[in-house]
Amino acid sequence: MKVIIVGGVAGGASCAARLRRLDERAEILMVERGPYVSYANCGLPYHVGGVIEKESSLLVASEAMFRALFAIDVRTNCEAVKISPDKKTVELRNVATGEVTTESYDKLVLSPGAASVRPPLPGIDLPGIFQVRTVPDAKAIREWLEQGSAFLAGMYKYSGFQAVRPKTRAVVIGGGFIGLETAENLAHRKFDVTLIEMLDQVLAPLDKEMASIVEGYVQQHGIRLALNDGVAEFKQTANGPLEVLTKSGKAYPADIVILALGVRPETALAKAAGLEIGERGGIRVDEQMHTSNPDIFAVGDAIEVKDFVTGQWSLVALAGPANRQGRIAADVIAGRDSRFRGTQGTAIIGLFGAAAAWTGANEKTLNRIGEKDFEKIYFYPNSHAGYYPGARPIAIKVIFRKSDGRLLGAQALGLDGVDKRIDALAMAIQMGGTIYDIEECELCYAPQFGSAKDPVNFAGMIAADVLRGDMPISHWESAKKGFLLDVREPVELAVEDAEGAVNIPLGQLRARLKELPRDQEIHVICRSGQRAYYATRILLQNGFKARNIPGGMLSRTHCASFWES
Ligand SMILES: Cc1cc2nc3c(=O)[nH]c(=O)nc-3n(C[C@H](O)[C@H](O)[C@H](O)COP(=O)(O)OP(=O)(O)OC[C@H]3O[C@@H](n4cnc5c(N)ncnc54)[C@H](O)[C@@H]3O)c2cc1C
Repeated sequence: MKVIIVGGVAGGASCAARLRRLDERAEILMVERGPYVSYANCGLPYHVGGVIEKESSLLVASEAMFRALFAIDVRTNCEAVKISPDKKTVELRNVATGEVTTESYDKLVLSPGAASVRPPLPGIDLPGIFQVRTVPDAKAIREWLEQGSAFLAGMYKYSGFQAVRPKTRAVVIGGGFIGLETAENLAHRKFDVTLIEMLDQVLAPLDKEMASIVEGYVQQHGIRLALNDGVAEFKQTANGPLEVLTKSGKAYPADIVILALGVRPETALAKAAGLEIGERGGIRVDEQMHTSNPDIFAVGDAIEVKDFVTGQWSLVALAGPANRQGRIAADVIAGRDSRFRGTQGTAIIGLFGAAAAWTGANEKTLNRIGEKDFEKIYFYPNSHAGYYPGARPIAIKVIFRKSDGRLLGAQALGLDGVDKRIDALAMAIQMGGTIYDIEECELCYAPQFGSAKDPVNFAGMIAADVLRGDMPISHWESAKKGFLLDVREPVELAVEDAEGAVNIPLGQLRARLKELPRDQEIHVICRSGQRAYYATRILLQNGFKARNIPGGMLSRTHCASFWES
């Protein structure tokens, strides 16, 4: 059996290596348009910033290693230019010489990835404008940073004796994870960084109120954000630097511009071969990675996948799914009955020592598809036992189905312990778990790592309290119309006041119940929702109609836009 694999990085390389492990006799040819196979594109922003100093550290496996260890014929600088499904052949072009050869296949795997979006804006090809997609891209950025323009060359030679070091300015366009990671790395290189984003938030997979925490945090670390604005044009100014002009009429000077406007599935080959393309613009595959042609498989960023939670087709450009899909395609080619479960978009980004992570469906998506059967909670547990030094709060949002408690999604942000909470919740989601499962799940604990009731257990306990009716809840967006009871201490009100709320500190509540209305719903707040929960229990057991606002004042801060509306 002869198998050709197009694309030699995440999906392609994992498919090739797995296939060899399963079938010693298969003839495997892997072609890659670029100069490297199996490189770590996820590390590129950190190579730009100098955290990963050596380019060679990004090269996970070489052409020679694939040959020696796996007996795989790897051809770099070799582009697949045409598939003829009827003849079962692929035309391959040597990128250096232009020579085209034809190879036949029994099975073909496409893992061509996704191309960076590059709109035809005036000036987009000016020197000093880069994307971060490949090792050569990162190399070009590093060369430019070090000596690419007359201005930066001056910086490079900066002796340190001058009293004032002129500012170097970077403009990053796009607030997704590649844009933010690159912005952070340029800030580490002492650039004055502006990030322009067309949406009203960064990190689109997060809900807006959670993204606003990220926005505040990166701004504290010196990144200037220009949200709700798109780029209109790039200009070269007379005295050297570039200028980024936006649709709102602003102009940002820049010594370097990074384009991180998102990615689009590479489907040109598949389209020309008549393969089915799905509604989201990716190659349509079944759960065994077959395209509409049974002898052609496709994996990775180029395909559409079924969202594990919503069941909708979606595009997910992440390394984990690409690797697993490559492996599944190899299994199926080798005669095994492997199937892809779908993806839930589990992802994480590190920024200035903090992390934001998410898994499953967000509230925006559920609203967009008209889903009504869900509830959300916010809470802010410590990353580990508060009495052990170094505990940091984590902001967590969990979304679950009202009718049966099934977990639908989670988002978290903090300086410590974010990854393991989202990983645990991701696993629960993939197993079809409910809030009752995470209420009961047994997780490792010692004070420096977690709490006897881990934040994952807490999520289940809070949500289960909601569904069992022990803790009715409301959210700021609706609560502001009702009677607000604030159970914090007066000293806390001096720091942050909840306008219009009646203040009865928790310790005085039982004695002052007669001050509260019995004919209205009482929405109870404290700083994070915990004391409000205790108060809600007191009120309910005394015959009042009470609701806790999960996350209390903390969730109001990042729900500020709802509060104002
Ligand atoms: C800067 C950056 C940071 C990232 N960080 C993360 C992260 O932290 N976490 C995460 O989960 N994901 C991350 N990703 C995404 C992740 O790298 C991709 O989801 C993953 O690599 C997709 O695998 P793939 O095999 O589909 O495509 P790729 O890994 O992109 O490989 C596709 C390859 O196919 C080649 N190719 C295309 N067409 C042809 C052709 N016609 N002939 C021959 N070769 C062809 C391309 O040159 C390319 O090398 C990041 C991506 C980038 C760019």
